[in-house]
Amino acid sequence: MPDLADTITNKCREVVGYTDKFVPLHSPTFTGAEWTYVKECLDTGWVSSAGNFVDRFEKNLASFCGVKHTVAVCNGTAALHTCLIVSGVSRNDEVIIPTLTFVATANAVTYVGAVPHFADIEPETLGINPLTLYDYLDNISEIRNGQCFNIQTGRRIAALIPMHTFGHPAKIDELIEISQNFGITLIEDAAESLGSYYKGKHTGSFGRIGAVSFNGNKIITTGGGGALLTNDNNLAKAAKHITTTAKRPHPWHYDHDAIGYNYRMPNLNAALGVAQLEQLPSFIKHKRAVAKHYATVFQNVEGLSFVTEPKHSKSNYWLCTLLLDAGQEDKLETILKLSNEKGIMTRPAWTPMHQLPAFKNCPRMNLTVSENMAKRLLNIPSSANIVKSTY
Ligand SMILES: *Cc1c(COP(=O)(O)O)cnc(C)c1O
Repeated sequence: MPDLADTITNKCREVVGYTDKFVPLHSPTFTGAEWTYVKECLDTGWVSSAGNFVDRFEKNLASFCGVKHTVAVCNGTAALHTCLIVSGVSRNDEVIIPTLTFVATANAVTYVGAVPHFADIEPETLGINPLTLYDYLDNISEIRNGQCFNIQTGRRIAALIPMHTFGHPAKIDELIEISQNFGITLIEDAAESLGSYYKGKHTGSFGRIGAVSFNGNKIITTGGGGALLTNDNNLAKAAKHITTTAKRPHPWHYDHDAIGYNYRMPNLNAALGVAQLEQLPSFIKHKRAVAKHYATVFQNVEGLSFVTEPKHSKSNYWLCTLLLDAGQEDKLETILKLSNEKGIMTRPAWTPMHQLPAFKNCPRMNLTVSENMAKRLLNIPSSANIVKSTY
């Protein structure tokens, strides 16, 4: 059997094309009205906290995601933080999150003084496993007055935050059912899954409220940015208010009725966002074509599989991913080293949250699947513009 590191590097090369330039994991594409809209901000002077691109972006995003309201903020982490605040999660609550996620999910929980409580993932979706979570909650919690309490710590389990890993939808129907059975608020971390659907419905629109990100490496970018998605009028209003310094509207007086945050998205970033959103359907199309090409070239490679969208889902394939077979995990470092040396950027999955020093004492269920999968996942170049450069 040829060396796995060589095989992966060569097969990736077939898809990304033969170029001298380093091939990044995910680079943005600015082939639409970005220049026009950003120039408009510069020409008019509306670059900051006022201007009409924010309203336009929020409206277009709501229509794309099929939700009533969106609130644009300065990044995805701020969006998650705001979701938690307006959902009433506070000091000494516990919030269930997958241990295999980007650190922002866990960090946001601590910003409201709550404690992350780690759930395990499943191989099929790379998201929280609803079956093991149900059994676990059944064992360690009790419901009092419609709220869920951890009988081991005495703390309220206030929220459950599923995350749609690399763009692949988690089993959101079953997770919603758990949240309803146990009286836990469901908040979606859809930071990676803009343009991904579960049973025809956009991710981030299932829970009471959800968060998306427009960081530079996400499927569309506003430079830095994020948004909350919700169908709840009151939550949307509360989120807009506290992300704009809790200022009561008045033509000249500075009157603030709570401690707020300066989390609003600047008009300059929203201008970029409006242009990017116009191209999102074509980005999704291209990224799905890249994924399909990878699936074909890796089809008969021994020792790994290409991660495909789960059942009932249409994924944006934000980051294309290989899963090394069990027993091949010791090859991961060599694969990472060789591919990056050869100009093809690859990255491992995140270190599971419960293995980070800040979160090592947080409550958790059995996390064997996450620990095992984290050592076998490999992200490979996934930009929407790969297709254009190779075909
Ligand atoms: C990108 C990301 C975030 C945070 O978004 P930022 O805009 O970088 O703050 C949160 N959660 C997950 C899972 C992410 O991938």
